[in-house]
Amino acid sequence: MAGRGPPSNPNPSKSNLNPKTPNPSQKVNSGVLKQRTLKSMTRAVGVGLHSGQRVELTLRPAAPDTGIVFRRVDLPEPVDILVSATAVTDTRMASTISVGQAKVHTIEHLMSACAGLGVDNLYVDITAEEVPILDGSAASFVFLLQSAGIELQNAPRRFIRLLKPVEVREGQGATQKWARLEPYHGYKLSFEIDFDHPAVDSTGQRVVFDMSVNSYSKDIARARTFGFTKDVEMMRANGLALGGGMDNAIVMDDYKVLNAGGLRYDDEFVKHKILDAMGDLYVIGKPFLASYSAFRSGHSMNNLLLRELLAHPDAWDVVTFEDEKRAPKGFAELARAW
Ligand SMILES: [Zn+2]
Repeated sequence: MAGRGPPSNPNPSKSNLNPKTPNPSQKVNSGVLKQRTLKSMTRAVGVGLHSGQRVELTLRPAAPDTGIVFRRVDLPEPVDILVSATAVTDTRMASTISVGQAKVHTIEHLMSACAGLGVDNLYVDITAEEVPILDGSAASFVFLLQSAGIELQNAPRRFIRLLKPVEVREGQGATQKWARLEPYHGYKLSFEIDFDHPAVDSTGQRVVFDMSVNSYSKDIARARTFGFTKDVEMMRANGLALGGGMDNAIVMDDYKVLNAGGLRYDDEFVKHKILDAMGDLYVIGKPFLASYSAFRSGHSMNNLLLRELLAHPDAWDVVTFEDEKRAPKGFAELARAW
């Protein structure tokens, strides 16, 4: 039971000072934007991208303010890992969370689906240390979550609202990369990549995705992870990407995409980076009211950005919406749609 704790409020002392912090005894208005979980349990079986291990995943409803909790049910004593920015302990190939010796690798695509569909509370029982890669995108997780159904809960959704810009930067010139969060009444992500590879450069290098305007499941969720054959060979030699192949990734040689079916979107590469960023940012435990922009960022820099945000309590607060009309356009409809 290690790691089970209070809901992932990143800054409890501040939240208590916030006049909009919900009082649990207070009955929630019907018009409020409510927290969401699953209506019923659902299961998936697959292999881990890096471990190649067979793994079973069971997604279960969770009470309001639980957050998203991974449970390693294969260990002699099951261990719960509550997803939070500081539970992320490794970002080298994928996002890994851990408590003590218990780990779960490659959580980002499932977390992205939860962010995109607005799932606040969920138990994820897992029988190995890596989330199955399925088709390399978030589409299978979206399908699973939608098939189980989304249930509104009797507690207001709490959003992290940006009040001031926060930014992280690394490198100079050709190695420069950065990621930034700034105030915005909604949730918008813009990403730019620069891979210097003919198959990638011939596609769109920059995408803007706005939750109030675009559709996560149609526009983003189907974008697959990608890799280069020369890197795959190197990774396999190091015991990584053992479950990877053209069934669950876009694979490229030095010149072109090798998958027979080609790309799912013209700009699938940069859309996958948006998909990853949504998963990486959602580990903070609450949806954002913010605009995210990034150049060449990845799992590591996205997590640094969250830690930078948490280190600046004056840059954000936590808000709820009692009145749908004050919520960002599209967010209230999203709550009704399911
Ligand atoms: Zn990814």
